[in-house]
Amino acid sequence: MRRLRYNVVVVGAGPSGSSAARAAAERGASVLLLEEHREVGLPIQCAEGLSERGLRDAGLKPTGEVVSQRITGVKVYAPNGRFISLRGSDWVGYTINRDVFDRMLAEKAVDAGAELMTATRVRGVLREDGAVKGVYATRDGRTLKIEADIVIGADGYASTVRRASGLGRWFPDVVTCAEFRLGNLSLDEPEVNEFYFGREVAPGGYAWVFPKSSEVANVGLGVRKYHKAPPIVYLKRFIDSDPRFKNAEILMVMGGVTPVSGILRRIVDDGVMLVGDAAGELIPCTGAGVHSGVVAGRIAGEVAAEAALEGAVSAGRLEEYVRRFEAEWGKRIRDSRRVVEMLDRFSDEDLNLLAEVITGDEIVALANGVNVSRVLARILRRAPLKVVRLITAYLRGGGR
Ligand SMILES: Cc1cc2nc3c(=O)[nH]c(=O)nc-3n(C[C@H](O)[C@H](O)[C@H](O)COP(=O)(O)OP(=O)(O)OC[C@H]3O[C@@H](n4cnc5c(N)ncnc54)[C@H](O)[C@@H]3O)c2cc1C
Repeated sequence: MRRLRYNVVVVGAGPSGSSAARAAAERGASVLLLEEHREVGLPIQCAEGLSERGLRDAGLKPTGEVVSQRITGVKVYAPNGRFISLRGSDWVGYTINRDVFDRMLAEKAVDAGAELMTATRVRGVLREDGAVKGVYATRDGRTLKIEADIVIGADGYASTVRRASGLGRWFPDVVTCAEFRLGNLSLDEPEVNEFYFGREVAPGGYAWVFPKSSEVANVGLGVRKYHKAPPIVYLKRFIDSDPRFKNAEILMVMGGVTPVSGILRRIVDDGVMLVGDAAGELIPCTGAGVHSGVVAGRIAGEVAAEAALEGAVSAGRLEEYVRRFEAEWGKRIRDSRRVVEMLDRFSDEDLNLLAEVITGDEIVALANGVNVSRVLARILRRAPLKVVRLITAYLRGGGR
């Protein structure tokens, strides 16, 4: 058995893990970044939507390599087909090339001094006196024992690190997604992201069309709780119902799971931290987790390096990461979760009524968990009675 030793071992070279590895290496820690796949960034399991700010916070420029389409508008469809349109600065972003994006972030971590080991799967954690002290991994059929002052679990929703270190087996609420990358299209508005709501289309979730150009788009959906069939069944139905996709060619099949119950109650313990999807750190209403994961990774990496170099790796010391992330993203994630729970009470008919009175800006704010109470109060002033009742019942219940 080969033995290795580092200050910080990061498990998973997705956006959260590479950001953590980079930040920790920049602060002078010795860092190992482990990835189970042979190539960072593949396979892609993403609709590839990212805001302008998200790209900037990742430290990348919108070059042709990393960005395939600039997005300047959004259309949100109610179950009855009525849509609300928003153009302009509140919804400016990109459809990125997620494989290139992930690869570039890993390269930045390596440039900062982290060591990257691909095709290496973490199987469990090493423990000493109750604290996490490293990981076991397999590579080319051999077992590696890798000791670390701190292990950062950035290994996605099914996180081995989370389960092995006793920080939580599973999330109370997840969205299950199916997605195709479709080619041979001729979209009129490749600069517009589309969202479709309704229990027939995507029960408990939504369907999306995120163009990568006028010819190519990521078309997918996620379902929760109320679905009666796997998401792929709803996706095929959705695609068949849209004449724009009649001659589409399937270029890629994607899918996956997003944890939408909010940040887990415990995301650090002695010698271990969780970041990104592993910790539930994504925006529940949209399922977007790249931006928040990059920020969480950066903060966790900074705290891990400082703590490891100080020789103080207790849960109490690592709580600094939890506090700093909470200050930047905690409220947004909680409030976006509250909106998910509120919308669970809306039938398709209620959603149609809401669509009569809500504006594009308000939808974006609610989905992202920004100024939720203020926006709901504004909507109440012009909403029909049925919608007023649903919102006030929800507000009175403290969001439960
Ligand atoms: C269908 C779909 C569409 C989405 N669309 C968007 C979108 O448009 N915009 C957006 O912001 N978010 C989107 N998301 C969410 C987004 O993909 C995640 O929030 C984001 O990838 C989280 O980054 P992460 O680094 O935490 O985890 P991941 O990107 O999941 O990275 C985890 C990494 O860990 C590796 N790993 C796992 N287990 C091990 C192990 N035991 N040993 C070693 N390595 C391991 C994996 O191979 C992977 O590389 C979507 C999700 C899905 C499922």
